[in-house]
Amino acid sequence: MHIPDIIIAVDGYSSTGKSSFAKMIAREFGFLYLDSGALYRGVTLFAIEKGMISADGKIDVPALEAALPSLDIHFGESETGSLTYMGDRCIEKDIRTLAVSGKVSPVAALPQVREYVDRRLRFLGRRKRVVLDGRDIGTTVFPDAELKIFMTADVGVRAMRRMTEMRSKGEDVRYEDVLHNLQERDYIDSHRKASPLAMAEDAVVLDNSRMTPEDQMVWLRDIMRKKFNLTDED
Ligand code: C5P
Repeated sequence: MHIPDIIIAVDGYSSTGKSSFAKMIAREFGFLYLDSGALYRGVTLFAIEKGMISADGKIDVPALEAALPSLDIHFGESETGSLTYMGDRCIEKDIRTLAVSGKVSPVAALPQVREYVDRRLRFLGRRKRVVLDGRDIGTTVFPDAELKIFMTADVGVRAMRRMTEMRSKGEDVRYEDVLHNLQERDYIDSHRKASPLAMAEDAVVLDNSRMTPEDQMVWLRDIMRKKFNLTDED
């Protein structure tokens, strides 16, 4: 299939497998993959390490806002895919802990933080041929994206997947805690004022509760053929 120069937005709930799916799309089509959640996680890690979030979860918004212009969170490539960096430091592992997951949604709800992340994403996606995953890519960051996918899956299935992923990375987490964190993030992400998690009107829904990664790629190729009038000879 000859893939046109497009932007693919993959939005949806936490732990629906957006990033795995987006990475597969990037590999298959030779697109650049941009993980918007990693940028929010990077800002959150920075705020935690600088003591800008108190024990009861209060964020020192003026301090964080003041630090944003000089905060250098970016992506770098490795043989195994894209990695997130803060300056020279690879923060890929540090941003995936439950400590960061537990604080990221309130940080991502701050309009100044959203502006910071949106600006970076729009710059990186300016030449198209990118696939991004997040919560508001198709509604706010790239409302003109040529293909918008909205992913959803049963919350129990999502919690189980997330737990397995975290345990495989050596983090000792309980199912109940992961489930609770997911439900909390779903709620905050869908109810915040600044660009809440919402499905774009022109998005196609993918419920992957009972789909394998291969099933999802078959589904995607079918959508691409129909939407862009592609044939396998293209
Ligand atoms: O995708 P991931 O789970 O890594 O994202 C972490 C958090 O970042 C989400 O729970 C959400 O609060 C926030 N986020 C967002 N908008 C995006 C991507 C992530 O608010 N586009």
